[in-house]
Amino acid sequence: MLDAGYWMLLSPSCKSAIRNLKSKISPGRRPLRAGGRNRTMALIVQKYGGTSVADLDRIQKVAERLIRVYSAGNDVVVVLSAMAGETDRLIQLAHQITNDPNRRELDVLVATGEQTTVSLLCIMLESMGCPATSLLGHQAEILTNRAFGRARIVGIHATRIKELLSQRKIVVVAGFQGRDQQGNITTLGRGGSDTSAVAIAAALNADVCEIYTDVDGVYTADPNLCKKAKKIEKICYDEMLEMASLGAKVLQIRAVEFAKKFNVPVHVRSSFQEEEGTMVVKEEVDMERLAVSGVTYTKDEARITLSRVPDKPGIASTIFTAIGEAGIVVDMIIQNTRKGGLTDLTFTVSKSNFPKAMAIQNEVAESIGAEQVIGDEHIAKVSVIGVGMRSHSGVAAKTFAVLAKENINIIMISTSEIKISCIIEEKYTELAVQVLHHAFGLDSP
Ligand code: ADP
Ligand code: ASP
Ligand code: MG
Repeated sequence: MLDAGYWMLLSPSCKSAIRNLKSKISPGRRPLRAGGRNRTMALIVQKYGGTSVADLDRIQKVAERLIRVYSAGNDVVVVLSAMAGETDRLIQLAHQITNDPNRRELDVLVATGEQTTVSLLCIMLESMGCPATSLLGHQAEILTNRAFGRARIVGIHATRIKELLSQRKIVVVAGFQGRDQQGNITTLGRGGSDTSAVAIAAALNADVCEIYTDVDGVYTADPNLCKKAKKIEKICYDEMLEMASLGAKVLQIRAVEFAKKFNVPVHVRSSFQEEEGTMVVKEEVDMERLAVSGVTYTKDEARITLSRVPDKPGIASTIFTAIGEAGIVVDMIIQNTRKGGLTDLTFTVSKSNFPKAMAIQNEVAESIGAEQVIGDEHIAKVSVIGVGMRSHSGVAAKTFAVLAKENINIIMISTSEIKISCIIEEKYTELAVQVLHHAFGLDSP
């Protein structure tokens, strides 16, 4: 059960979403607390992104909000990002020394961004009379594998967090970071504080994980690009997972995976206003079933084509083994057959991996006798997403027709049962998002 003060702030649909989820997770797992407090309290995890802690004024606003929630009797764990722009600044500093900084040391460096904000918030809270303790990733026992720069959380012991909560402290944890088995500092990939927050909420069996950011919820498209985008009141984990994977950076993909796996209700909302945001929850029978519920884009794509490749067994394996061994993730792949026992093979990688992938493919092309390797960094991927697609036909045809009407050429296509993605020229990204958003009836009136 949630604290009455906090509960009152929520709309009926939010309440029902949380109730629904909570009834499915071990009921009654959090007994009424002793210690003079006469109401059932909530355990709330709140995460604040970079813009929410960009300077001391904003950190003070965060502290004020926390004190309100804490004073109402709730237990509060806070997860913070670095100040806006700080992680980029630190990465650039390292790149001024070398193009390929040591990845272990880069993690030690970028983790300092979050160390700054957690300590500042605790100093702020203490100065306002509220007991608070900061914990870095390793102190909060966030255990990860050893993949520096993109580590995955493998466990959270949370004993220290629980101990501090039992002393009625606000616990402020540095997001984005953990430690591997040897004690090395690791980071979880860009946007990783979302994942820290949801994983901590899962480990603590928290009532809700609130993600405070610079928009007031999850929208049908990026509200900063599509002015007619509408706020979504409630979205299921699978749809959110597709949106996050296909470019909606409002939540990191791994955060949604954790939320889905451990049934954590996630509330995405604004740190600048009180209005409710979007609940990310398990799919419910009564959820609205539009064919398309969102349109996303990502410009972080680059395309590589190996042309006139001998069409024989083992060629694809040679090409993609070389890429895989370099730790590069391939997104889309298409193969076109030509006459004369030749074929063209095209695939996409992220822009940051493009130079390395091109170098590898130039070597591979020579070894397999391909005619040439062509690269293109000026592409983007637009996607239409919706669980309703499972029961609506014609979404793909309509997507292609809408793009054709604007003379936007589709370079590659990939589909799943709940999404259709098209690679197009980068310069058409905004237009494509806007016309698809309109065509699928998502524009706000
Ligand atoms: P934070 O620093 O708080 O983690 P991010 O910049 O990572 O914030 O994520 C918030 C941003 O996500 C928004 O400013 C918005 O531009 C972008 N965004 C992309 N797609 C969406 C979407 N569908 N709904 C809401 N925001 C989106
Ligand atoms: N500070 C990290 C980043 O900029 C993590 C985060 O903000 O979630 O990616
Ligand atoms: Mg983020």
